[in-house]
Amino acid sequence: MASPSPAPRRADLIFRNATVVDGTGAARRIADVAVAGDRIVAVGDCDGMAADHTVDAAGRVLAPGFIDAHTHDDGYLLVHRDMTPKVSQGITTVVTGNCGISVAPLVSNAPPQPLDLLGPPALFRFDTFAQWLDTLRTAPANVNVVPLLGHSTLRVRAMPELDRPASDAEIAAMRDEVRLAMEAGAFGVSTGTFYPPAAAATEAEIIAVCAPVRTHGGIYSTHLRDETDAIVPSIEEALRIGRALDCPVVFSHHKVAGKRNHGRSAETLGLLADAARLQPLCLDCHPYPATSTMLRLDRVRQSTRTLITWSTGYPAAGGRDFHELMQELGLDEDALLDKLRPAAAIYFIMDERDVARIAQFPLTMFGSDGLPFDPRPHPRQWGTFPRILARMVREDQLMTLEAAIHKMSGLAAQQYGLQDRGRIAPGAFADLVLFDAQRVRDRATFADPLQLSTGIHGVWVNGARVWEQSAPAGAEDAAGSALPAFSGRVLRRLAIANRSAARH
Ligand SMILES: [Zn+2]
Repeated sequence: MASPSPAPRRADLIFRNATVVDGTGAARRIADVAVAGDRIVAVGDCDGMAADHTVDAAGRVLAPGFIDAHTHDDGYLLVHRDMTPKVSQGITTVVTGNCGISVAPLVSNAPPQPLDLLGPPALFRFDTFAQWLDTLRTAPANVNVVPLLGHSTLRVRAMPELDRPASDAEIAAMRDEVRLAMEAGAFGVSTGTFYPPAAAATEAEIIAVCAPVRTHGGIYSTHLRDETDAIVPSIEEALRIGRALDCPVVFSHHKVAGKRNHGRSAETLGLLADAARLQPLCLDCHPYPATSTMLRLDRVRQSTRTLITWSTGYPAAGGRDFHELMQELGLDEDALLDKLRPAAAIYFIMDERDVARIAQFPLTMFGSDGLPFDPRPHPRQWGTFPRILARMVREDQLMTLEAAIHKMSGLAAQQYGLQDRGRIAPGAFADLVLFDAQRVRDRATFADPLQLSTGIHGVWVNGARVWEQSAPAGAEDAAGSALPAFSGRVLRRLAIANRSAARH
């Protein structure tokens, strides 16, 4: 019988007496964790081992770094490499390019809404997806990146007018871009048929454009065509696309929006649970009953309250309530929309019970869905993961700490096919977060959204420390700082290719 390989005698870093929650869902245990280079080399008793650095982790939880399964950080990664809004939450990997929008491949001085949610036009300077990936590899950020390609971006690039289905020639051009992006390292394609640039795209167009996703063993991620009254046919369309492409489907920021639909998550989750027996799928969500995107009247009408985050047409509207502005300016909905746009808003559109039920669903991962350049963003960009740990786990007890960490790490790593990530085990990459389970808490609010969370003491990406928060006993507002390790990597989709090959 082969004996396990002995632990090395020396490490770069040892966490002593940590409460290890390993990302698999297994119960916590007290252990030392040793790191050498970019990998975890030992978990257990490391008494006989020497290290350059030792962290006394007694009383704190050591978990795999969190995977933010849904972001719009494509451009932010390039210009804010410290990634403070994310590493301060314990996030070590972000999935980019969601909702059909990615910054590449597109060169544009005036990208249409909702592409402008990704940041200023100067970010749209990459003629190929590979150029954007090369830029990230040359000047990496503090987090790892799982890159998706956006179908709306391809439409904006390939089509002179967007309010119709693509022609055969346009489909062929977009399919070529998908192939090139997949070859360059994209994990898959996202769509956002909810949004104007892709609303006229048919199911057949999406299947034809995304054909290389099937060949390359990628994934298909979707902001559904309708998350309100027509949510069931929208889910069914996405399931058909997934079957046609023989690939996993990621249902983005799953919700049932609008008063009439509150409570219907029982129905949609039942449908998704049944479908998951026949084809691979997963969901992401965040812990807030409000969402945020470009300003549009259908969303305003479905919401109990709408907050403008920014407006180019009338900048003074930033931070104001849509209905208060209507009264103040004596305008009806349409006239106010015309005055404000382009603009973005926060919509209070979901029911807390649906949010809780969706978060508890076994196939649900967590994704912030934040809009990083918004001057008054939805607090999810800075607070999602600590909020789950504070509200959903500690206060409301919707799930155990072990289950929440699994959703934040191991489950997401498995769904995106990330090899050797999302768990604490010898041989896994040293993406780690050290936090205080009793004190961790989000501080970002709708009124004051750019606030650091507390209780996240340290974050390591590929073995290098990227976040430090010093917290003297009892201090609630301990200052934190991002450390410029820039040790994040563009991750490879190798495991997905292998998994697909193994299925056939
Ligand atoms: Zn979306």
